Amino acid sequence: MATSTVEDYLKAILLEEQSRPDALVTTGRIATAIDVAPGTATSMVKALADSALVSYEPYSGVRLTEAGRQLAAHVLRRHRLVELFLVQIMGMDWSEVHEEAEELEHAISDRILERMDEMLGRPSVDPHGDPIPDAAGQVEEVELPSLATCELGEPVVVARVRDQSPDFLRLVERRGLKPGSWVVVEERDQTADLVALRLPDGVEPLSLGYRAASKILVGR
Ligand SMILES: [Zn+2]
Repeated sequence: MATSTVEDYLKAILLEEQSRPDALVTTGRIATAIDVAPGTATSMVKALADSALVSYEPYSGVRLTEAGRQLAAHVLRRHRLVELFLVQIMGMDWSEVHEEAEELEHAISDRILERMDEMLGRPSVDPHGDPIPDAAGQVEEVELPSLATCELGEPVVVARVRDQSPDFLRLVERRGLKPGSWVVVEERDQTADLVALRLPDGVEPLSLGYRAASKILVGR
C-alpha cells in the first residue's frame, strides 16, 4: 500500500503530464504543485524511481511508469468520486469538496469506492467537470476550448472548470457558469482584458477577464 505522500506525488505528476503531454515533468513543476522545496521534490522523485513508479532523467524530469500511472489514476478516481459523492449524496457545496477529497482520497477502501460508484450511477465526470478514471485506471482527457478561445456568437455549454479554489468556484456559481450552463461569447477585447458573455434569457449579461475566462472550458 502506497503512503499518502507517494500518492500525492504520483497524482501531481499525472496531472502535470495531462496538462503538457509532450514534455517530461520537471522536479520544479512537481515542487510547485505539491508546495515543497525543490530539494524535497528531487529526493522524493529519486525514491519513486527506485520503486519503479517513475522513470527519472536527471536535469530533465520524470515520466510515470505503467505501475506509477495505475496508482496515480486510482488516487484521482478516489478523489473525483469522493467529490461527487459529497456534492450529490451529502449535499455539500461544490466549492468546499476539493479539500475534503484531498484527505479522503487516501483513506477510502476499494470496497467503499465501488459502492459509491454504484450509488452515483457510475459517473464519468466530477462536480467540476473533471473526468473520473474508470476502475481499470483509464481516463479520457478531451481537449476543450475555453471561454477565452471558443467561437464567438455561438451557444456553448460549460463543460469543465479548471480551478479548485473555493473563491473561484463560488464566483463561477454566482455568475451562473457551472458545468451544464449555456453561454454565448459575444465579444473579446484583449487590450481591455474583456470577454463579454450572454447567458440564457432572464440572466444579466456579464463580462470576465481573460484569465478567468481561460479556466472555464466549454463544449457544444
Ligand atoms: Zn474536481
